[in-house]
Amino acid sequence: MLYKNTLTFAQQLDKEDILSKFQNHFHLLKKDDKHIVYLCGNSLGLQPKNVKAAIDQELKDWAELGVEGHFEGKNPWMYYHHFLTEKAAKIVGANESEVIIMNNLTANLHLMMVSFYRPTKIRYKIMMEASAFPSDQYAMETQARFHGLNPDDAIIELKPRDGEYLLRTEDILAKIYEHKDDLAIVMLGGVNYYTGQAFDMQAITKAAHEIGATAGFDLAHAAGNLQLQLHDWDVDFAVWCTYKYLNSGPGGTSGVFVNECHGNNPDLVRFAGWWGHDEKERFKMKKGFIPMQGAAGWQLSNAQIIPMAIHKASLEIIDEAGIENLRKKSILLTGYLEFILNDFSQHLTIITPKNKDERGCQLSIIVKKDGKKLFDYLQTKNIMPDWREPDVIRMSPVPLYNSFEDVYRVGEAMKEYFN
Ligand SMILES: *Cc1c(COP(=O)(O)O)cnc(C)c1O
Repeated sequence: MLYKNTLTFAQQLDKEDILSKFQNHFHLLKKDDKHIVYLCGNSLGLQPKNVKAAIDQELKDWAELGVEGHFEGKNPWMYYHHFLTEKAAKIVGANESEVIIMNNLTANLHLMMVSFYRPTKIRYKIMMEASAFPSDQYAMETQARFHGLNPDDAIIELKPRDGEYLLRTEDILAKIYEHKDDLAIVMLGGVNYYTGQAFDMQAITKAAHEIGATAGFDLAHAAGNLQLQLHDWDVDFAVWCTYKYLNSGPGGTSGVFVNECHGNNPDLVRFAGWWGHDEKERFKMKKGFIPMQGAAGWQLSNAQIIPMAIHKASLEIIDEAGIENLRKKSILLTGYLEFILNDFSQHLTIITPKNKDERGCQLSIIVKKDGKKLFDYLQTKNIMPDWREPDVIRMSPVPLYNSFEDVYRVGEAMKEYFN
């Protein structure tokens, strides 16, 4: 696409955009009645308008039915997770039985590690990104300790080459082969939260399997952002949160993928709870855990109806838009942002990959001088990116509710700042 940095051009793209109507499904932010260009959908997605009615429905059933809501409610709570898995599975490229919505992200990461990180004396190492999202670092560190290992020895950190910001796929694969005898698991983000780099999950999984390790991914920044094919890529497990690109509210629920080759193995070690127990037997209150087939067999507790009601409503919107359409628009929209930002290349560097296959919505920018000052200035111009220590401005135009005109406005504000 040949982009132009003009308002007419941006508005023309908005006119041609088949997803532009989805803006109306969200509460867009305003200040003094002026539109705010929200670029933080990678951190907390905006609120879909249908969420309120979805919550009200559950509150009504609770108020009117009490405990009977489990069976008599409009969406019987007893089976609530079933209402989410089909649409969630489409988003990550999985069979329905490979996905379960439950808990929160970091808790689910630990649960998956319990099953998929089974270190032996020889094969005990965890490979992850250096400077991964802190929660993932703490999770891996304490998983190593849980098995009596020293994290400094057990964790292999992937670092970019000197002077580079990104990890090269060839270097990741080489590191996996280098550790062919002692690597137990590769656990990476699908998209790095800081750089916006999307990893080649298929190639990484294949290499891990070749040397006898497992591969799991934290898709916090990938779910609802990239087109994922977890099943076809043969990924062992994945976890994601639902409040970033999936717009399901602060602290919202989380998703888990367990490849069916593991999900139907009742002997796979896990930490269990009654909601993961065979549904037909659940209320017989008997001794002896019999897991449900598939990812559902990792559930612990009865469903958290309110966060799941939000997610259900949000999934309906994403499903209607279609992840393929969203990705198509996202490539155009982020490409447009990149085009606009390139006008300021003497002042800033975009560290996110230029290749569209190696990124999603987000562009991460390092400003050569006083990045925080530019960030603060943009806020005063009703543009809301986010700031990540030590020196990055992240901007994520989201195809569901950001427009090409939004992106054009970013360029206008930057012009005022730099000129
Ligand atoms: C957002 C994010 C988290 C947050 O974890 P919660 O358990 O949902 O608080 C963890 N890891 C990554 C990679 C993230 O991007």
